[in-house]
Amino acid sequence: MSVYMSAKASGRVCILGAPFDSTTTYRPGSRFGPGAIREASYGLETFSPALMGDLEDCSYMDLGDLELPFGDPNPALAMIEKAASDSISAGRVPFLLGGEHLVSLGAIRAAHAAHPGLAVVHLDAHADLRDEYLGQRLSHATVMRRAFELLGEHRIHQVGVRSCTREEHPLAGELRSIPEGIALKVGEKPCYLSIDLDVLDPSVLPGTGTPEPGGMSFRELADTLVSAISRLNIVGLDVVELAPNLDPTGVSAVVAAKVVRECLIALERRNAQAGDG
Ligand code: MN
Ligand code: MN
Repeated sequence: MSVYMSAKASGRVCILGAPFDSTTTYRPGSRFGPGAIREASYGLETFSPALMGDLEDCSYMDLGDLELPFGDPNPALAMIEKAASDSISAGRVPFLLGGEHLVSLGAIRAAHAAHPGLAVVHLDAHADLRDEYLGQRLSHATVMRRAFELLGEHRIHQVGVRSCTREEHPLAGELRSIPEGIALKVGEKPCYLSIDLDVLDPSVLPGTGTPEPGGMSFRELADTLVSAISRLNIVGLDVVELAPNLDPTGVSAVVAAKVVRECLIALERRNAQAGDG
C-alpha cells in the first residue's frame, strides 16, 4: 500500500504527522516516526486479509507533517491542538502519527473541547501517569496524568500497562481495563484512542524509545484494536512512539504502518455500519 498514493484529497479520517520528541527521556528518534510509517507503507498491500477490507475503499487523507518547533513543548502542543481542532470542525477524525506520546495531549485537548464527556482508551506498556518527570509537567511520561486532569474520573481506560512507578501504581490500577470490558465501560461516548506502540513486545517492535519486555504480539494488538474500533465512537486517534532509527532492520516501521492500515480499514467499516459513510 501507500498511505501517500491511496490518500485522497479529502476524506473522513485525516492523517497528521507530529514529528516531535523533545521530552523523550531515554532514546530519542520518534520525530522520524511519521516519515518512516509512510515510507514503510509502500511495501504493504492495501488489502487486509484479516479484515477482508481494502485501504483503497477507505475515506482518508494525509495532510503530511506539522512543522513543530523543538524544545518548549507548549507551542508544539498548541499547533497540534489547532490542527486536530480544524480537522474535527471539518467533520473529520484526526489520526495523529507521532512523535513521542506527549503529542497526544494536543489532540486530546481538541477532541475534549469538541466533545464534552470524551473518553480515552490508552494502549501502552507504561501508565504515563507521573505528575512530573525531572521537574517537567509536560512529558511523554506525564501525558495521561494531564489528560486525567482534563477529563476527570472514569474517562481513561488503560490496556497493556506493565510498567509504572510506586506513586503511579494506585491510579494505574484504577484505570486498568481488559480489552473485552472497554466497550461496556465507554458505550457510545465519544472516544479518543491512543496507541503507544511500545504496548507491543520489544521482539515485535524494538524501534521505540522505552522498550518494555512482556508485551503484546502483533495479532493481539490488531485484534484488540479492531474489536475496540468496531464498538466505539472514535472521534480521534493516534499511533505514537515509533523511533525507526533504533531498529536497523526497518521492521518496526512496517509493524507501525500495518497497525495504521488495520485502524483505517476498521474505522471505515465502523463508519459504514453507523450508516453515515
Ligand atoms: Mn506512552
Ligand atoms: Mn510507553
